[in-house]
Amino acid sequence: MTNSWLDDFPVRIKELDHAHLRRRRAVVTPDGGARLKVDGRSMLAFCSNDYLGLSQHPELVQAACAGAQAFGVGSGGSPLVSGHSAANEALEQELAAFVGLPRALYFYAGFSTNVGIIPALMGAGDAIFSDALNHACLIDGARLSRAQIHRYAHLDLAALDHELAHSSARRKLVISDAVFSMDGTCADIPALLALCERHDALLLLDDAHGFGVKGPQGRGSLAEAGLYGAQASRRVLYMATLSKAAGAAGAFVAGDDALVEWLLQKTRSYIFATAAPALLASALSASLRVIAQDEWRRTHLNQLIARLRSGLTAGLQGSGWQLSESHTAIQPLLIGPNDKALAAMQGLRERDIWVPAIRPPTVPEGTARLRIALSAAHTEADVDLLIETLTTLAKTLR
Ligand SMILES: *Cc1c(COP(=O)(O)O)cnc(C)c1O
Repeated sequence: MTNSWLDDFPVRIKELDHAHLRRRRAVVTPDGGARLKVDGRSMLAFCSNDYLGLSQHPELVQAACAGAQAFGVGSGGSPLVSGHSAANEALEQELAAFVGLPRALYFYAGFSTNVGIIPALMGAGDAIFSDALNHACLIDGARLSRAQIHRYAHLDLAALDHELAHSSARRKLVISDAVFSMDGTCADIPALLALCERHDALLLLDDAHGFGVKGPQGRGSLAEAGLYGAQASRRVLYMATLSKAAGAAGAFVAGDDALVEWLLQKTRSYIFATAAPALLASALSASLRVIAQDEWRRTHLNQLIARLRSGLTAGLQGSGWQLSESHTAIQPLLIGPNDKALAAMQGLRERDIWVPAIRPPTVPEGTARLRIALSAAHTEADVDLLIETLTTLAKTLR
């Protein structure tokens, strides 16, 4: 056979190269604090979502080992058959109590949670309202549901109100990141909820980047808005990953009892996937205790955020590089063109600092950026080194 489409792949990869869009994986090993050994070289890393520095925490490691001793390494089956271990059951109860909602359901990963729960809730004839900067898994879940999708401009609640008012669908679902992963901006949760009440819609909040970091004792963005415990609303379906601030892996949804029971019955990515291993649930139970206890991690992280912002705002004046308006651990530095963002990443790398360049299609065309992620594992000296290095680079790369 001549000219098979299979011959196109090398050509298409070359095209990615030319557009500066080819991604490469590094091989990494933890190297103490916020340092990583990357392809054999020790680097100061500002690229991890391990916001509280818990992924290497001895109590979590010990709990994972104890979980493996008690339950083995694999769960052996779907949670609806034999995979739902006593450790997973305990974790679900702890998660529900932690976020102050009636019930929680624990999933093996965040991406597949959203890809599964949205089609379990919505179908043809229903309507989904989605913030333009939502995470890929919310977008994919919405597409998979076959509901009609209304995309509204980032954080534009007037536009959302208008779309909701003009929809004749009986079932309406608003989906939004609580903290937007590539911008660090935050959804106005009380305002979103008010719109959902007015238009009889359900609100699905993805708090991947707020859980553990925001709210009293790290209980997340919903708790920060006061919508937990006695103030919880059955109109909110809360979702968070346990792979970021919680330092391990997995995810959960929490909300009204009947709603969560429905998801347990109908979510294909839950029913037809092997349950997360109990050793992870054990580690996560330990993680919840540390998150609640170690207030100093959030205090330290917030001090680092303020330090970075004031240092870079001063250092980058007139450079054209713009720190985005974020007060979270995600501090994007907008650079613009893909090649410039890559050159900045490369310049940092040569000085043993690792900050990833984020390019389209992850972010809109022309808004390539360095995504600086801070963690409680960083020291003030780490942040000062990043400020100095970026200040110098912005001058040389101009
Ligand atoms: C990381 C992320 C996910 C996916 O979670 P995983 O547990 O990594 O699969 C979902 N939503 C948002 C907003 C994320 O940033």
